[in-house]
Amino acid sequence: MKPKIMVSPSVRDDNPGLLEERLSDIAELVFNTFRGSEDIPSEIKDSEAMILGLEPVNKDVLRNFPKLKIIARYGVGYDNVDVSACTKRGIYVTHTPGVLSHAVAELTIGLMICLSRRLVEADNYVRTMWANKHKKFKLEMGTDLYGKTLGIIGLGRIGYEVAVRAKAFGMKIIYYDIERKSEAEKTLEARYVDLETLLKESDFLTIHVPLTSQTRNMIGEKELRLMKPTAYIINTSRGAVIDEEALCRALKECWIAGAGLDVFVSEPLPFNSPLINMRNVVLAPHIGTYTVETRRKMALMCIENVRAVLMGKTPPNPVPEQRGFVFKR
Ligand code: NAD
Repeated sequence: MKPKIMVSPSVRDDNPGLLEERLSDIAELVFNTFRGSEDIPSEIKDSEAMILGLEPVNKDVLRNFPKLKIIARYGVGYDNVDVSACTKRGIYVTHTPGVLSHAVAELTIGLMICLSRRLVEADNYVRTMWANKHKKFKLEMGTDLYGKTLGIIGLGRIGYEVAVRAKAFGMKIIYYDIERKSEAEKTLEARYVDLETLLKESDFLTIHVPLTSQTRNMIGEKELRLMKPTAYIINTSRGAVIDEEALCRALKECWIAGAGLDVFVSEPLPFNSPLINMRNVVLAPHIGTYTVETRRKMALMCIENVRAVLMGKTPPNPVPEQRGFVFKR
């Protein structure tokens, strides 16, 4: 009998036929998923591998998968997986670092331009008002990126790619991170500053840290009040890094000029969220990596990790907490 792999249906939908083509020689694929420990379909409980989207995996979920050897996260962030519970059970957790950085950086720059040039409003203006001779509404003027200061929180793989692109636009780069990045400081002329200075000096502020106990709500009322009233905040990391209630107040009461958001505390963003009706925000439905090329590279990396483990080897892309680990099961 071949080992079973549970694959989140969204991974198959992004990559029609790819998983079957690359894995069915060694495994049986089951395209199904769960939302929590209470609703796990019996057909996936004997899976030895999982290719996982954003479903939450905690120790109660793991108890339902006694044969599981690997969770291959289809993405780089793995805040939805309890890694220490997996380690205790000898389950590898892998992710897809690097291959998606360009796509997320492009979206980040896209959100910045949407905000600075009011593209959503401009599109709506052309469709509904521009040709109207009796129009009274005047589109507000935009602002240049050139010469402005971009503050980056988390100058890791994605933050670095954002900085490269922003530099090409003639922006000045400052950053805050728990680690100094001396190479990036040289190549990008990026200046390291503390968080308070970054908040005060940025014209655009973009967040690229992982969601951890240290980064949850790292941007709250106190931090937002330090920002310039003309500044924009962009978040393509994880929603919970920003205190969303404080952000809504900041946007409503104009402590800052606007926000570009790809990620939210609760996804999909509920229709009753105050963000839905705000004109100074641009919203995207968690599409940082949602391009044909990038989703394929992510799937191929998951396939490589799962193949390795099912063939008795160690996976090439373990999460940092499991680097160098070998589980014998
Ligand atoms: P990375 O590990 O390369 O970079 C993260 C950076 O944050 C590192 O430089 C690290 O030192 C820094 N950091 C960590 N904790 C910090 C803290 N407390 N304070 C300041 N800096 C801190 O990760 P990456 O590949 O660049 O990905 C970053 C995050 O982006 C992921 O964890 C994920 O949550 C998010 N992401 C979102 C999407 C999307 O679709 N919107 C797609 C991919 C990744």
